[in-house]
Amino acid sequence: MTKVLIIGAGHAGGTAAALLRQYGHEGPIVLAGEEAAPPYQRPPLSKAWLKGEADLEALLLRPEEFYAEHGIELRLGVTAVSIDAAGRTVTFADGTVEPYDALILATGSTARKLSIPGADRQDLLELRTLADAERLKAALGPGKRLAVVGGGYVGLEAAASARALGAEAVVIERMDRVLARVASQTLSDFFTGYHRAHGVEVLTSAEVTGFEADGVRLADGRLVGADAILVGVGAAACDQLAATAGLACQNGIVVDEAARTSDPAIWAIGDVSWRPIPAHGGRMQRLESVPNALEQAKQTAAAITGRPAPTPEVPWFWSDQYDVKLQIAGLPEGADRQVLRGDPATAAFAVFHLDGDRIVCAEAVNAPAEFMAGRQMIGRATPVDPVRLADSGVSMKAVAAG
Ligand code: FAD
Repeated sequence: MTKVLIIGAGHAGGTAAALLRQYGHEGPIVLAGEEAAPPYQRPPLSKAWLKGEADLEALLLRPEEFYAEHGIELRLGVTAVSIDAAGRTVTFADGTVEPYDALILATGSTARKLSIPGADRQDLLELRTLADAERLKAALGPGKRLAVVGGGYVGLEAAASARALGAEAVVIERMDRVLARVASQTLSDFFTGYHRAHGVEVLTSAEVTGFEADGVRLADGRLVGADAILVGVGAAACDQLAATAGLACQNGIVVDEAARTSDPAIWAIGDVSWRPIPAHGGRMQRLESVPNALEQAKQTAAAITGRPAPTPEVPWFWSDQYDVKLQIAGLPEGADRQVLRGDPATAAFAVFHLDGDRIVCAEAVNAPAEFMAGRQMIGRATPVDPVRLADSGVSMKAVAAG
């Protein structure tokens, strides 16, 4: 019977284990991860959980008993240190060796570090794991001031949650706008305004040059005072195990549409994979999102159990800040223009990115209908009339119908 070994007990690994059983895999499954907690969801760590609105139970992907009940051997607190691809074994830091027939690498990504003076300070915070989130939460509250280095989604969500906990927050971004790498100018302007309206200080074009006892030093000499500093400057793929084992890697582990690596007995899923995106012409990219982890878990479980490959999905993502739900479908690369639908001043609008007469990306703020229809139209490559698309008086159903 095929034995499946999964390294990384996070969102992708935990889901793959459960799906393998759901799809009828009868052989042994070992799910091994270095964190102490059973597989849990990370999104609430910067949102509901951080604000105290969700407990650990609510974070868990499945109740802890689920794994034993389904014959999944959950090995927690263990770190895989090497793969012998020829011998089909994985060695752990505690010296144990686990053989496999099929190996799934789901090692995720890790918070990027800055290499500037003071970056090795023990009290700097990052936000990737439950343990990180517990440290951050303990540092927040009335009378505290949080400095967030990096105006990406995680940083902005943490700032919003800090405000909800009564703390002051300042976001420091080196680019000229927040979310510069991942969202349109319209979205950046909207979120900057929304955070400022909620009392967050947002500094842009502000380069951090060092961390000091009282706060963060900027290139222009200013010292931004803070009681706690969260560094949120992106995540790097945990692909060292794979690279050392000789698997093809490029900013992540290179996989095909079934999430298979350059070794036919090894799959890589979730944040760690450098994957093709069929809805975008097979463009290769890393996607750091829950929907991506779920999609690739499905692909792998289907491949291992001999099921037909699932239909490729349009990538999507969400972020919650204050009372704003942002949903993004597709990727903006290749777009030649943007169409705004609705008014950002009402906090309900969408920005569509078009390549010719096709939507390639939909950014929807408190606009679920625009998100749903946009995602479908991207998947079906539906031609669209930009004038009707911009007109909120024309329903999205009617826009999609042409
Ligand atoms: P992870 O969930 O990170 O799991 C990887 C696991 O592998 C970790 O537990 C790690 O310890 C373990 N591991 C690594 N190396 C080894 C090793 N050598 N041996 C054993 N174990 C190892 N996505 C969204 O779509 N929407 C959101 O709103 C959103 N918000 C987020 C907020 C935060 C604070 C964070 C951190 C992420 C957020 N994400 C969000 C991203 C989403 O959580 C990730 O894309 C998702 O967790 C990826 O799943 P994964 O299994 O690939 O990686």
